[in-house]
Amino acid sequence: MVKETTYYDILGVKPACSADDLKKAYRKLALKYHPDKNPNEGERFKQISQAYEVLSNPDKRRIYDQGGEQALKEGGMGANGFSSPMDIFDLFFGTAFGGGRGQTRRRERRGKDVIHQLSVSLEELYKGAVRKLALQKNVICEKCDGRGGKKGAVEQCPTCRGTGARVQIQQLGPGMIQQIQTMCPDCHGQGERINPKDRCKNCGGRKTVRDRKILEVHVDKGMVDGQKISFGGEGDQEPGLEAGDIIIVLDEKEHEVFQRSGNDLIMRMNIELVESLCGFQKVIRTLDDRDLVITAIPGEVTKHGEVKCVLNEGMPHYKNPFEKGRLIIQFLVNFPATLPPEIVPQLEDCLPPRPELMVPDNAEECLLVDLDPESRRRDYKNAYDEDEAGGHGPSRVQCATH
Ligand SMILES: [Zn+2]
Ligand SMILES: [Zn+2]
Repeated sequence: MVKETTYYDILGVKPACSADDLKKAYRKLALKYHPDKNPNEGERFKQISQAYEVLSNPDKRRIYDQGGEQALKEGGMGANGFSSPMDIFDLFFGTAFGGGRGQTRRRERRGKDVIHQLSVSLEELYKGAVRKLALQKNVICEKCDGRGGKKGAVEQCPTCRGTGARVQIQQLGPGMIQQIQTMCPDCHGQGERINPKDRCKNCGGRKTVRDRKILEVHVDKGMVDGQKISFGGEGDQEPGLEAGDIIIVLDEKEHEVFQRSGNDLIMRMNIELVESLCGFQKVIRTLDDRDLVITAIPGEVTKHGEVKCVLNEGMPHYKNPFEKGRLIIQFLVNFPATLPPEIVPQLEDCLPPRPELMVPDNAEECLLVDLDPESRRRDYKNAYDEDEAGGHGPSRVQCATH
């Protein structure tokens, strides 16, 4: 049992979750609450980051599980012990999936990368797919080539005389003045402005315009949850800056039949008792809509919970899609609730013999009843309480002697 669940609750996971579950939960929430997408959720973004920072570190997670936030504080992980949420985010998305661009230090004069999540079905990851994604982005205004106005329309800002700053002098008292520097409100700190009469009509002097862009995302066979697809230089454009990238992060949807485990697919299959004992044929519809037939020949018994597999019917390997993983099937046997008593002797004749039983002379015969886990706990508690009070505990199992 863990002491507190707050960090787990923030990420929406159970305390028993795996490291992969944590990564997936963080990825979804961090993208959703990133300040670029949700400027008003800064506090939430920070909480998500802190929870992930603790739980993704096995040592810190163990300390937290044992002693909660208090134990972390005592271990030197106080309010100031956390990394900045942006660093955690950059580290996670920049290196966690082997981005390959080696961008631990961003190049100078380069715009931000923009990350989007794309929800994909298991069928799409199996067959491959091309998804069209409509995005809004800033592009350099074509009419003015990103100048914001006619050639030569840019002039020094008259308000700040090109400094970009406004200096205000405040009289604090006799002989005491204070200089306060603020950003020039007319040119927003740029030091230059475009004469209103020469301003570009297309972009209104902003140098960029919003444009709708359709991205074609090629989802290759065998790609995995969390995999990134980069579009170099497709981020927002800004004059004088190299545009950043658009990065698409795949988010695999749950499938109602198959569960993925690496390149293997796992499914559960219910079979009837007669099929478990006498053999069966079953049809499985694959993710690319083929039908597979599996057979258990007469005489072959399939036990409840037994696991078998079909080779080469799992997920295709990424970049090597003719190789496939396994299709793993766990069989669950539906037992009949009751049998007509008159058929029991016949049935018994067909089955392996039951063991012989010797009932000792003084054996007590008991009634077997269904177990209700809730009521048992209650009865147990009552029995304990009454014992303490010196009474006799109620007999929990009714015994009848003949
Ligand atoms: Zn100015
Ligand atoms: Zn323009």
